[in-house]
Parts: sequence; structure tokens; C-alpha cells
Amino acid sequence: MRPFILSPLFASVQGIEHVGPKTSERFQKLKVERVWDLVQLLPTRIEERHFLDTLGGAPLKEKVTCVLQIASHHAPKRPHLPYKVIGLLNNHPLSLVFFHARSPYLLQQLPVGSTKLVSGTLEKNLDDLQIIHPDYIGDPNQKKTWEGAQPLYGLTGGISQTQYRKIIGHALSKVPSLPEWIPESFMEKKGWAHWKESLFAVHHPKKETDLLSTDKARCRLAFDELFSHQLSLQRLRRQVQKKEGQSFKASSIFVPQVKKNLGFSLTTGQEEILSLLEAELCSTKTMMRLLQGDVGSGKTVVALLTMLQVIEGGAQTAILAPTEILATQHAKTLSKFLEGTNVRWALLTGKTSLKEKADIKTKLKEGDLDLLIGTHALLEGDVVFKNLGYVVIDEQHRFGVNQRKQLIQKGSGVNLLVMSATPIPRSLALTVFGDLDICQLKEKPKGREDIKTTVLSLDKVQTLYSNLKRAIDDGQKFYWVCPLIEESEALDLGHAEARASILRDLLGDKNVGLLHGRMKVEEKERVMQDFAEGVYKVLVSTTVIEVGVDVPDATVMIIEHAERFGLAQLHQLRGRVGRGSKPSSCVLLYGKQVSAIGKKRLHMMRETNDGFLIAEADLSLRGPGDVLGTKQSGLPQFKFADLETQGALLVDAHQMAKEISVQSLESEAFENLLALFPYIHQEHMKS
Ligand code: ADP
Ligand code: MG
Repeated sequence: MRPFILSPLFASVQGIEHVGPKTSERFQKLKVERVWDLVQLLPTRIEERHFLDTLGGAPLKEKVTCVLQIASHHAPKRPHLPYKVIGLLNNHPLSLVFFHARSPYLLQQLPVGSTKLVSGTLEKNLDDLQIIHPDYIGDPNQKKTWEGAQPLYGLTGGISQTQYRKIIGHALSKVPSLPEWIPESFMEKKGWAHWKESLFAVHHPKKETDLLSTDKARCRLAFDELFSHQLSLQRLRRQVQKKEGQSFKASSIFVPQVKKNLGFSLTTGQEEILSLLEAELCSTKTMMRLLQGDVGSGKTVVALLTMLQVIEGGAQTAILAPTEILATQHAKTLSKFLEGTNVRWALLTGKTSLKEKADIKTKLKEGDLDLLIGTHALLEGDVVFKNLGYVVIDEQHRFGVNQRKQLIQKGSGVNLLVMSATPIPRSLALTVFGDLDICQLKEKPKGREDIKTTVLSLDKVQTLYSNLKRAIDDGQKFYWVCPLIEESEALDLGHAEARASILRDLLGDKNVGLLHGRMKVEEKERVMQDFAEGVYKVLVSTTVIEVGVDVPDATVMIIEHAERFGLAQLHQLRGRVGRGSKPSSCVLLYGKQVSAIGKKRLHMMRETNDGFLIAEADLSLRGPGDVLGTKQSGLPQFKFADLETQGALLVDAHQMAKEISVQSLESEAFENLLALFPYIHQEHMKS
């Protein structure tokens, strides 16, 4: 239920003075239905009107307002000439000029001898000062409305700025005062005013800088929005953590044993994360954590080791992968690592036979399985665990908050680790994963060289061919990725097929495999398998290989029309190579229509292999929506906040939400704050 105090804000705009049926129809086009919708649309520019006491030194070509004594009217002698009205300011003349004017109307508006307030752009014609078609002619007591800075609104749906301002004024008068939800000390530190005053201030900008995202009032309102979002994430988190979490002693058997099986030693970064997670699993607080790390940074290995701690402690674990290919790959890795242990595990995907599925489900229910690897199939209702203690979700951003919940609700006090290979910037991570603690694995296992990246025009693709031929003779393997050309799979496919055929002519038919989104899962896996085993030397593909496929001896990644990909996506694709010990390279081919920004992005890729740097750059070049990739990203639609420029506020909001006690979270102030921004809470409201 929405707090009663907010009712005036959520009332229809039709209740505002000056808003009749016609205006409200115009508002509807702007998606403005409620008073609150209206006042959330902020001015985009200001217009400065100078009030003139005298005409001496008055600014030309600028908006001015003055009070004139109307002295005389001069109707035009010929029709195409203008109608002039002479007004006096301190006995100096100023002409008001009208084209195609009707004199009765002007005589009525500007009677000789009257005193009028006039506002418009001041011009000079020869030696005469004039205003052509004034913006306003009226009573001198309207002076306040027509002097100084005036807000201009971007989209008004055809409502005039003057009318729009009037309506905003009435709307603002309906805004209630709300009890403050931001701690006073923080407000003082930031120099912020209360919510209502700030809302008033953003609609009355005085100078250009008041329109920027650095403006105090704008920051305050952005903060409220971010804070509201973070609070709701905290609530969600506390719901989960209300129950005591399962805790497990550090492993003394499985982890040392499997560490030996690995055949390599963990990096310092991996060891650090491992101890962090180990300690968290030891405590009774439910783990809710995100592990971010580049592709190949060794997250899966660490996750597996922490799963062993839980298994050793007698509970069951599950690892959820986004695709069948990945789940299968995890299974393969696991079977190797788990050799010599008595850990009982199974793989459950859409492909698993019915008989096998039934068998797995029975074992799971009876506690005869310790570890389950799988895809979405894991989420199904009849997948029941005897005592699930820990869930690992791989490549999270394809799963939503709700799916996360679905899995951990298959047990009580279930610990959760989410792994993401998309190194999203911190501000976005806090938004999308705000209910999770975040840690990062930055360093890559030793012996991995950076991938050498070159940027090449598609015109020069010929020069690439001879190199590719040599590479193949040399026993190397490479990927050739074709982009989404249009939102049509058929067209993409056509393009990839054409490319494959060119490469087949060049490199031999049997050397080139083709992978695309229209293939059945089994077909895809067959092709991948063949590529992994060296049947094919070249894999031409649409972007289906984007998600974590592991072919360690593939050393070259060619991306055609690289300008059509986002940076994060390019980085992800590039991460498919450089996974073995051999030096690897990446070629970014760009088409004719590459823009300046497009080129800049490609050069950024050439300069760094650091996923986090790339992600930050991607954010500033493209904005949050594109960085996370479309709708299912889980990114809320903020109206006040701009994550690109106000990311620091988000960090504060996150911290503050975390520190708020359970009791105060239920206070009136926070109820109001949560209810103010229904549109950003939808993601978790759904469940
Ligand atoms: P991620 O899950 O972050 O993509 P993985 O854990 O799958 O990374 O590791 C990628 C590859 O690197 C795997 O083949 C893995 O066995 C190997 N690997 C992981 N950690 C190390 C390490 N410390 N030293 C050498 N190789 C490692
Ligand atoms: Mg992985």
C-alpha cells in the first residue's frame, strides 16, 4: 500500500489547474499521467531575461524585459511593411514591430498612454532599438515571471513554455513535505536541501551549471532514486538472510586432495578469494556474493574448491551454467579434478535422458548426490535436494534476481556465489547486483601472455588470408566471428555462410566448420567438439560462441565488423583465445561505415587487455543500457540518476542502505522513499 502522504503526487495531472482535457491528452503522449511524472521531467535549458531600467548599454540579440509607456502607433503604408508601436523607456524610444498585424487588435493590446510590461529579443535596426513580435505583452505586475532565468523544458508535447511553466508551478504546489530519510550529517556534508526544496530548486535553475548532473539539487534527487533502489535490494537480501545460514568447517580432506589434482598452483588472487569464501562458508551468515573476473582468470576452479568444503561438511551443492555447452564443459573439468575423491556428482541438462533424469532426481532427493551441474533444468520444481547448502551460478547476468531466488529456495539458509565473466563497472555492478557482496579476481594465471590485437579495415582482408594459411600449416586454430547484421538470423547466417565458403576455397573444405544460432544443440556441440579436437582448424561462427567456450589451443580470433559490437562483447570474444600457453592474437576488422567513436573503441581494445578498464570505457562511450546489453540486463530505468556521471552517488547510496538497521528500514520515512520510485523496483516485485 502506498503511504497516504504521497497521494497528491500520484494523483492525475487532470487535477492540476490549467490542465484541461486537451492538455492532458498532450501529457499522455509524454507518458505523463500523474503529478509526480510531471515534476520528474526536469528543465533542459534556461533562458535569461534581462530586466532593463534604461536602454543605454542594453544587450542586443538577447531576451529582455522592460516597462514601456506606449507613445504612438504607426500602421504600415504598404501591406508588406511592418506595423510599429513606439514605446518609451525613460523617454528613450523602443519600437515594437509586428508583421501582418491587425491594427484594432494592437490598439487594444497597447493603447496609447498605457504602461505595459514587454518581453522579447532586443534588436537594432540602423539606429533604432526594437523588439520584433514580443514574447509577452502584459501588466507590469507580471515582472517577476519575466525577468531573470527561466527554465525551458525539452519536450512539452506542443504546450507553450509559458503555459508549461505555469502548470509546473501548480504541480509543485501540490508536492507534500516528507520526513527526511537521509541522515543529517550526510546532508550537511553534501550541502543538500530537503527533498521538496530540492525538487523546487531543479525547476527553478538560475544559471547553466544548475542544469548539470553536478548540481546539488539534482544530485540529491538522483541520490534518493538510487537510495530507494539500494534499499529495496537490501530488503531482499535481508529476507534471505533472516534465516541463519548453513555453516561449514574448512576442508581438510577434499580441498588439499583436489589442489594436487589441478596440476598447477593457484595464483595469489585465487588464494585470497578462496580464503575469503572459505571464511564466509564457515560463518552462519548466509553467503550472498558476486565474484567478478575476466574469462580465464580461474573463477571456476576457486568455486569448485569452495564447493568441496560444503560437500565435506555433509551438504549438497549445485552449479548452474547458462548453456549446455558450458555445463558439459564444467562436467568434464570436474571429472578430472575430482579423480580419487569419492564426491558423487551428476550433470543435468535439457539433453539428459528421461530415465537418467529420474535417476538423478531420486538420488538428489535421498542425498546420494553431492554435486549437481546443470542448466536451467536445475530450476524446475521437481528438482528437489535433500540438504542443499551452496549454490554457484556461473555467468550470472543471463539469470535474473528471481531465478537466483528460485534456486536458493530449494534449501534453507543456502549460500550463494554468483560468478560473472563480464567485468562490468562498479556502478553498474552495484545496481544490478546490489543485493550481493562483490569481489574481484583481477590477476590472470601466470604464463598467459596478453593477446596481441590489431585493427584492420575490411578492405585489406586479403592481407590476412596469407597469414591465416601460414598459421594453419603451422598447426594453429582460429575463430572467425561474423556479427549480427540485422535483427534477422537469416541474414546473419547468410553472411556467415558466405564467409565460410570463401575460407573453404582458400584453406580447404574440411578445415572449416560453421556454427550458428539456428543449429540444434547437438549439431552445435558436434561442431564445437570437432573444432576442439582439431577436425576443423577454423570455426566460422555467428556470436553464439560468445559464452564461455574453452578450446585452449585456439590462438587467433578474427572479428568481422568489429565496430558493430560493444566493447565488453569484443573483450568477451577475445577472451576465447589466449587460454593456452601459446601466444595468441586478435584481429578486429572494421567496415566502411565505422564512426569516430567506433574507431576509438577499437583502438581502446588494441591498447589494453584489462576487462575492467574496457568496461569503464564502454560505459562512458555507450551508456549503461548498452553495456549490459538490452532488456534482460536487470538495469532499472532511472529518471533522475545518471549512472555515467553520478556513479559515486550510487556507491554512497549502497553503503548507506547497507548500514541501515532493520527497525529504521520499517520507518515511515523509508516507506515513503521506497514507494516514491515504483518503476525501479519492478524486477524484485515480480517474484
Ligand atoms: P574462469 O572460470 O574464470 O573462466 P577457469 O577457472 O575456467 O576460469 O580457468 C580457465 C583455465 O585456466 C582452465 O583451463 C583452468 O584449469 C586454468 N587455470 C585456472 N587457474 C589456474 C592457475 N592458477 N594456473 C594455471 N592454470 C589455471
Ligand atoms: Mg567460467
